[in-house]
Order: sequence, then C-alpha cells, then structure tokens
Amino acid sequence: MEEKEGLKEQTLRVRPIKRGAEKKYRDYPTVLDKSTEAHEFWEPIVHQGLWDIKGHKIVKGPWGGGSVEDAKKRPPREFMVIDRASFALYSHSYGLVSPFFRGLLEGKLMGTKCPECGTVYCPPRAHCWNPECRVADCYDNWMNLPLTGIIHTFTVQCLAAAPFEHMLPFSMGYVQVDGADTTLPTLLHMRPREIFIGKKVKFEFVPEEKRKGDLMDVYAVPAILDEKAPEWACLQKDAEQMKVLEDSIKATQEFIKKRYGIDNSPEERGW
Ligand SMILES: [Zn+2]
Repeated sequence: MEEKEGLKEQTLRVRPIKRGAEKKYRDYPTVLDKSTEAHEFWEPIVHQGLWDIKGHKIVKGPWGGGSVEDAKKRPPREFMVIDRASFALYSHSYGLVSPFFRGLLEGKLMGTKCPECGTVYCPPRAHCWNPECRVADCYDNWMNLPLTGIIHTFTVQCLAAAPFEHMLPFSMGYVQVDGADTTLPTLLHMRPREIFIGKKVKFEFVPEEKRKGDLMDVYAVPAILDEKAPEWACLQKDAEQMKVLEDSIKATQEFIKKRYGIDNSPEERGW
C-alpha cells in the first residue's frame, strides 16, 4: 500500500548510539503505524466528527441496587444522558455522578466528599474507595471546588488515538484541584517548556455554546505568569531531552498541518 505523504515526518530524530553504551528507551526509533487498511477505513469516519458528543438530556428515573421493585421505592433522581455518535447514535447515562458533568456545562468543577472519611473526589465517585468506609455513599454530598489546582504529573503527546489526532501536539496533566484528594485528567494549555510537577494552574472552560458535558470542556492554564521551574524539574534540567522534545513537537505540528490543514503552532493557538 502506498505510504501516506507526511507519515515519515512522524519519526522522532534518533541519536546515534555509542558503541558499548547502554540503550535507553529514547534511542529506539518510533515505529510507524503500518495498519493503513484499518486507518483508511476509520479516518473519514473520524473526520466527520463522529465519536463527538452530539447532545445531552436530563432524565428522571429509578436508581440503586437490589430489585427493580426496590429501585422504584426510592424517589427518582435526575441523570445526565449524553448522545455520542459512533456509527450509530449511542446514548449513555452518567449515572450518579451526573452533577459533575452538568457542572461542566455551567463552568463549574464539582467533587463528592465521603461522609465517613472526608476524602474529596474530583473526578467524583458515587461511593468511597477507602476500604475502611465500606463503599459509603458520596453521591448526595457534592462540593463546588475552586477553579485552581496543582500539576501532579503530566505527559507531552505527539501521538494520540484517532479522534484526538487533529489536536496534536498536546499536553495532558493529572491536576489536583485545590480541596480535592484525587487528580483530574486535564488538557494543559501551555508549552512543554513551562510544565513541571507542582506548577500552580487555573481551570478555564471552552465558550459556553461549545461545551458538551465532558472533560474536553475544561483545560488548565498557568496560574502564575512565568512561574519558575524548581531545581529538580527533570524536563527543564535535561537540555538534550528538551531539544528532542521540541523537534518532535515541530515535526508533529507540520504533520498535522499536512494531514488535517490545521495549524497547531503556538502562534496560532496563542499559548
Ligand atoms: Zn470514605
């Protein structure tokens, strides 16, 4: 099969390996995806915007464990149901954590708090994970959390699953929302050079009319202008690794521009 134009540029620059030197993971070349048949089948479907959320509705219904009769005895609750396209329209409920996703539509970050041990979950959990609490009910104990947090860990991505490929390159962080005990996977709208563990961030939302009630509605930006990376920040300390990363980012931007006609350069994105 004919190789797609631009695919070659996806290869990371590989440094020559010194004789006798131990190989490190980054000395291995990136393997090109040769599964072109499957890729060509899926690509137009993905390009049509399928897998995207098409809409949502709020429904009222019975809930909880036990028999249907047991469930009917409880007062009905409201659930957020989203319609996601994946060939056919696929509707599913967010169940007992629906308030979190409704909160995203309103530009809010909400978490649940365990009434037994006080653990605050964001993303929310309907039942506490602490074994001591014996799956205590958290679903009626919601908290409105501040739109600030701290980067717990992060990754810079030059490869992604098909529905997200057009957004490359991008960075994802596990961000601990202030007041929460867990971390929220969040898109980081900042340059890799700026990202480090412990960085203070604030959460922002895409414009209201574009929100769909999923995690793509929210992203993090630096909370402090030019916050200095600490001494131990590994990425910033390794100039050679940073150079390899920046070259890969540039190659990825060029590849995305060729394949999708989308300019994901920092100049165009404004961050
Ligand atoms: Zn608990």
